[in-house]
Amino acid sequence: MVEPVLQIDNLVKAFGALRATDGVSIDLRPGEIHALIGPNGAGKSTLIHQICGTVRPDSGTIRFAGEDIGALNTAERAQKGLGRTFQVSSLAPEFSALRNVMLAVQAKQGSSFGFFRPVMRDSSLVDPAMAILERVGLADRARLPAAELSHGERRQLEIAMALALQSKAFLLDEPMAGMGPEGSKRLTGFLDELRKEAPILLVEHDMDAVFALADRISVLVYGKVIATGTVDEIRSNPTVRTAYLGD
Ligand code: ADP
Ligand code: MG
Repeated sequence: MVEPVLQIDNLVKAFGALRATDGVSIDLRPGEIHALIGPNGAGKSTLIHQICGTVRPDSGTIRFAGEDIGALNTAERAQKGLGRTFQVSSLAPEFSALRNVMLAVQAKQGSSFGFFRPVMRDSSLVDPAMAILERVGLADRARLPAAELSHGERRQLEIAMALALQSKAFLLDEPMAGMGPEGSKRLTGFLDELRKEAPILLVEHDMDAVFALADRISVLVYGKVIATGTVDEIRSNPTVRTAYLGD
């Protein structure tokens, strides 16, 4: 069997009496899109936060690229190649799209992941950053402050930053949220391309997108994975249909 890029074992995180993740085990294999679905409050975002290091699990292990990353902070995990976008954006809103990507390029080149160091107006940063903006379709927005981008464009910008960090896996938390049908369709096409770069753990409520993209789907309900399988297996799973797909 191929070694997974990301291997989560038995992650538990409680907020008071509530176990937001209650022993979650899930893996991400090379080349795949693994979708994580489940009702609001199931623990999907909490799981993503534990993987990227913004929330510390109470117990369980996270292995990434063959290494236990549990003791690393968020910046160290990002530098190892965990690329993430959030439901709530982590961009520097007052900086231009270009500058945001330049910071990510610089972070990758530099020894530390610093968002507060001054950026040189240096072609060694501008050129690769522009090339990445072109790739995600944002070249004509390069000079706009991130705050002035549309919702969909901000998601694209976050993906651009993950690309700049040469991510070995992408963690996407509801990238389609708040997008119209046009935007969702465009992003679906883009994610289908992005998977060639690195595998994607995709939290998403848009079932059209999930069914179109996912190689595997895991269903999270009240902090527990109740099923993992292919699109067909999940769609025909009676427990999943009752718990989530709504019949
Ligand atoms: P999802 O992303 O699947 O909608 P979340 O991971 O955001 O679910 O939340 C899972 C549960 O944990 C929810 O009941 C939520 O209210 C709770 N929760 C999430 N973050 C916190 C927190 N920082 N403090 C307390 N409770 C939290
Ligand atoms: Mg969420």
